[in-house]
Amino acid sequence: MLIDMRTRYCPFCKEQIHYQALVCRYCTRDLPPKVQSQRKNSHGWLAAIIAAGVIVGGAAFLAAEFLEERKNWLTEPTRRQKPQNPPD
Ligand SMILES: [Zn+2]
Repeated sequence: MLIDMRTRYCPFCKEQIHYQALVCRYCTRDLPPKVQSQRKNSHGWLAAIIAAGVIVGGAAFLAAEFLEERKNWLTEPTRRQKPQNPPD
């Protein structure tokens, strides 16, 4: 017997049902959507933290790189003005 992560148990008849089910297919009672939304939110919460970490980390990295580049522009302005000779 495999226990699928995408299932839960009906609080009324204790039968295994789909985790997104709004009505139990065994006892046909309405199921509280609380369990569904809680599970969804806990995943979204974790994903949001990971995404935020990646975005903040990436932004900080890009900002640091940009400031380093900008320092080069300010200290060596002639480098950018020198035209590149196309290969003959
Ligand atoms: Zn049921």
